[in-house]
Amino acid sequence: MQCQTVLPGTECTFWSKQGCNFIGNSCQTVVDECQGCDRAVEGTIGHVCSVAPSPKQKWAQGLCNMATHRKVEIQSTESKSVNPLKASKKASAKKK
Ligand code: SF4
Repeated sequence: MQCQTVLPGTECTFWSKQGCNFIGNSCQTVVDECQGCDRAVEGTIGHVCSVAPSPKQKWAQGLCNMATHRKVEIQSTESKSVNPLKASKKASAKKK
């Protein structure tokens, strides 16, 4: 159903005929870590997240998985992968 309080007209899974079902019956405002995220939007109670009702919970375990401004950097420790078939052919060609 569509939210009628914080983001009027926005589809929300927490909105029901009885109103907002989320904790405290409302979304919560964004936290400092959300600064710069494209998903932060202006609501009737201030800046809120358009995809998560509780930004504080999204950052409680570390990086928010929905953040657009910060990403996890994964560094590979493996060297360049080698095709074993091609490596074998190359090795046998050198022997000749
Ligand atoms: S997606 Fe994450 S970082 Fe972005 S506004 Fe929502 S809670 Fe904040």
